[in-house]
Amino acid sequence: MQLTTLQYRIKDENTAKHLNKMAGAVNFVWNYCNEVNYDRWRKFRKTYTAFDLNKKTAGCAKELGLHSQTVQAIAEEYAKCTKQFSKAKLSWRSKNRSLGWIPFKASGVKVQGDTVKYQGKTFRFWLSRPIEGIVRFGSFAQNSKGNWYVNLVIEDADRGRLKTCRKVGIDLGLKTIASLSDGTELSRENLTKKYEHKLAVAQRAGKKKQVKTIHAKIKNKRKDWNHKKTTELVRDYDYIAVGNVSSSKLKKTRMAKSVSDAGWSSFKSMLAYKAVKLGVEVKEVNESFSTVTCSTCGERTGPKGLSNLRIREWICLSCNTSHHRDVNAATNILLSAQGIVRRRESLPL
Ligand SMILES: [Zn+2]
Repeated sequence: MQLTTLQYRIKDENTAKHLNKMAGAVNFVWNYCNEVNYDRWRKFRKTYTAFDLNKKTAGCAKELGLHSQTVQAIAEEYAKCTKQFSKAKLSWRSKNRSLGWIPFKASGVKVQGDTVKYQGKTFRFWLSRPIEGIVRFGSFAQNSKGNWYVNLVIEDADRGRLKTCRKVGIDLGLKTIASLSDGTELSRENLTKKYEHKLAVAQRAGKKKQVKTIHAKIKNKRKDWNHKKTTELVRDYDYIAVGNVSSSKLKKTRMAKSVSDAGWSSFKSMLAYKAVKLGVEVKEVNESFSTVTCSTCGERTGPKGLSNLRIREWICLSCNTSHHRDVNAATNILLSAQGIVRRRESLPL
């Protein structure tokens, strides 16, 4: 059993006022816990447990417009923090110094499609990826720009993935394209390029908030794409081999911008954790020579050097096979992961 947190942006143009109001009530409960706890500490050098605080705050939920389990969750979080930081008094929460936060437990909310219902109010969110599993608990939370999100902590339903018996090698490109050994191409729009102009304009004008928004947008788009593609890969293949793209080396070249835009490291870590969950095998291999080696005969007859990156199609001088550069590289990565070595002499004449 595994818990995963999914985060969705709430369409808060009209609903933020409700969330803001409830966040104020949450702060009230938190500060109350802080007050009574510190009072007890001053008098008796003892602090309250979550259980004590639950008793002290019982019955206030309705009046504050919160679910009773939200009040419990606040008390529990408060007690946890005092223990964790060994403090009898924590920071006060206020509208100005704390980001909005409204915790809840599963029975306090109803999640349906792209909506979450809490305390009789319906909050719509952008369903950026499907919710697969059972909601255990979660929270509404605000980011530094004041936007509201809903965090859902999900217990993965063990759905038993069906074996596909398919293996694949992936060549992670320098730009925004990854090629699979079966010829499929995963391509994403070049976000750095797309927002380059907008970003430059905002930076020149000194619009800090706008710059921040654009950066956040790029980050989110990249993350969503990574999620979507890695989910597809672990669904479709039982065995996945990827190259160890050495981005540090490439960052020194003039490809630097493309390499950091590609962001393959987060792609790879997502792939790895999703694979573990589903029992899919992911292997990372040294990808040196994967581009120049012919995947049919094993001779290094391909185009060499960074300057030859333009060449996408080539024919092996040794065995006459015509190759797509990246598909050939992906095939080599798959072969190498499985320890298969191609030798000219082993080919049938
Ligand atoms: Zn060849």
